[in-house]
Amino acid sequence: MATNRTFTMIKPDAVEANNIGSILGMMTEAGFRVVALKYTKLSEEQAGKFYDIHRARPFFGELVEFMSRGPIVAAILEKENAIEDFRKLIGATNPEQAEAGTIRKLYATSIGENAVHGSDSDENAKIEGDFFFSELERF
Ligand code: GDP
Repeated sequence: MATNRTFTMIKPDAVEANNIGSILGMMTEAGFRVVALKYTKLSEEQAGKFYDIHRARPFFGELVEFMSRGPIVAAILEKENAIEDFRKLIGATNPEQAEAGTIRKLYATSIGENAVHGSDSDENAKIEGDFFFSELERF
C-alpha cells in the first residue's frame, strides 16, 4: 500500500556547495511536507549499510567515501504519490540525463556526486526513514 511518504538526503556535495536551503525550498515548493529532518554525518560503516544493495557494484567504495566525507541532511517527506513525484523532482541519477528544472540538473555535478537521494519504493522509503529516525522524531 502506498504510504505517501518518501525519504531523502541532501548529499555531502550539495551541503559543501551551500545548497541546503535552495534544495529544501524546491522540495517544499513542490508540495512536500517535512515529517522528519536531521543534519548529521554518516560514518563509512553507516554509509556502507545504507547502500548495502550496491555493495557488489564497482563504484561502491567511491560511493561510501563520498557519502561519509561530510554532513548530510536527512528527511522524511509527505505528499500524495510521494515516491513517483519526488523521483520526478530530483531527476535522473546522471545529471547529464536529468530533465531541465530538476534538482539534480541544477545542483548535481556527476553521476556519483548527484546532490540528493530519493527512495525508489514505499518499502525502501520505510527502511531508509527507519535508518535515521525514531517515531519520536516524526511529526
Ligand atoms: P538513484 O536511485 O538515482 O540514487 O541511483 P542508484 O540507486 O542507481 O545509485 C545510488 C547512488 O550511487 C547514486 O545516487 C550515486 O550517488 C551512486 N552511483 C550510481 N552510479 C554510479 C556510478 O556509476 N559511479 C559512481 N561513482 N557513483 C554512482
